[in-house]
Amino acid sequence: MAKETFDPIRENRGSRAALKVPMANFPNADEIVRQGLLEDSQSVETVDIMLVNPPSPDGGIWIRSQHRVGRRTRENMIWPQVSLAQMAALLHPTYKVKVVDAIAERMSWSEFSALLDRHKPRYYLTQVTAPTLENDMYGVFLAKARGAYTIAFGTHVTPIPRETMRPYPSLDFILLGEPDLTIRDLLDCLEGKFDKRPANIQKLFADHDPTYKPSLNEDGTANLSGVKGLVWRRGDEIVMNGTRSFIHNLSDMPLPMHELLPLQKYRMPLLKGPFTFIVTSRGCPAACTYCIKHVSYQFSARVRSPENIMQELWKLKNLGINNIHMYADLFTVNRDQVVGLCQLMIEQKINIKWTCNSRVDYVDEEMLALMGKAGCWLISWGIESGNEQILKHARKGVYPEKAANSLRAAKKAGIKNWGYFIIGLPGETETTIRETIEFAKKLPLDIALFHVAAPYPGTPFFFEVVKNGWFRAGTRWEQVDMDKGTVLDYPDLPAERLLYWQKRAFREWAFRPGPIMTYLKMLMSDTSTLSSAVNVGLQHLNWSSSESESKERFAIARASKA
Ligand code: SF4
Repeated sequence: MAKETFDPIRENRGSRAALKVPMANFPNADEIVRQGLLEDSQSVETVDIMLVNPPSPDGGIWIRSQHRVGRRTRENMIWPQVSLAQMAALLHPTYKVKVVDAIAERMSWSEFSALLDRHKPRYYLTQVTAPTLENDMYGVFLAKARGAYTIAFGTHVTPIPRETMRPYPSLDFILLGEPDLTIRDLLDCLEGKFDKRPANIQKLFADHDPTYKPSLNEDGTANLSGVKGLVWRRGDEIVMNGTRSFIHNLSDMPLPMHELLPLQKYRMPLLKGPFTFIVTSRGCPAACTYCIKHVSYQFSARVRSPENIMQELWKLKNLGINNIHMYADLFTVNRDQVVGLCQLMIEQKINIKWTCNSRVDYVDEEMLALMGKAGCWLISWGIESGNEQILKHARKGVYPEKAANSLRAAKKAGIKNWGYFIIGLPGETETTIRETIEFAKKLPLDIALFHVAAPYPGTPFFFEVVKNGWFRAGTRWEQVDMDKGTVLDYPDLPAERLLYWQKRAFREWAFRPGPIMTYLKMLMSDTSTLSSAVNVGLQHLNWSSSESESKERFAIARASKA
């Protein structure tokens, strides 16, 4: 037998002829992963829906709300997320709900991710605002990555639904305008739970829209195209359904589930202890061009009954809350409601301290006196400008002398006045800004804040700015914020000058003997508010003194142009 000779090249397996290339047949672990997730979702901490005020973009305190605009707070206010508590009440007990206010809890993104892992929401509903858009969409992405259906609502996504969904594929749904009934309708549709609605929820649906009917296909499956107020994806297409009617009778809504909120964390400057909001009405009949109400409730002013508000006040009182902000587009929109509420508060001796907002032409001396007697201690007034032409152009519809009279009447009733002013509305010049500062100094104000006008998308002011090319080149949504800077660039009043005047206005108003004395008196009257007041004061000082830096930069820029 011939002996095999050893061939080192043949021994090298790499010298053999290449095999025919087979068809790819990749291993698939999807099913196992999916099964694992489904088994895990039986955990006791799993929720059907998580209603979220997402973490901060920069560690600071941000304000987000259902019907107003978002901004970084300069007053150290932590806004109660009452709109999330309201929607929770519309979904409970059919759905297991969890409300997360990551701003109040000062929650980091990693803590928030851990919370998502723990609760594994099937639905994720988030607040979204223009200045926090990318940040808020990060939350959507995290939830989507964990298998949730993701839903956004608010005043940014309402006027730009398609252009929000297009660049953010993790976002499944947008609720346009008033989200309360749309979120309930959407969940009932997807979960097949129309028949699980409690009687009060059925009534709300029947009353708000006589044409309403649950949206189902003939075979009983969900038909998203019939859910009014919904924006959704059909394959690659983004579909906008018809608009949903506003809720006619707000008193028919279940009381918000305040108990799900971190009530002890909410703070307002110069206020001892926690506070929260009660929504007394929605909408405002006025037409101020810069106001975001154009994209939330438009001209539909609806008020709750005084008796219904009292129920909520007592609920909060029993939860240990004695400070309330009556949260409305315009609290004094209906005199009968305000008078009725004040009378009940006095009769029932509820002994709650409260604040509200108003317009100088929606009050009278008698009503203000009653408000003071019922526990109102501060009114924030949107005064905006000291120049009639600017007010007229902005459709504010009031004149400066009315402001002086109303504020005096409030003072007489023992109520403090907080004035809000806007620098940079159309038609503004350095002369009109001066007029506003001088006007503010003459008013009986205890606190004054000066913002730069912000053209929030969907407001008439926004369209005016676009039409006239007043947006600063390269503006991003994150920059549309009345506190952080400005996106406006008027031909005769560039952004730097607007910011300069905003800060100067505050300094000129604040550093006078009157406001300094008022401030000191407030501190002396309640030392428990000292640290928050000092904090706010320091923030304002920092902020207004940073002006000297920007002034220097501005002077250098001007010198280099000359
Ligand atoms: S009065 Fe206030 S709420 Fe009403 S439109 Fe003007 S700014 Fe908006």
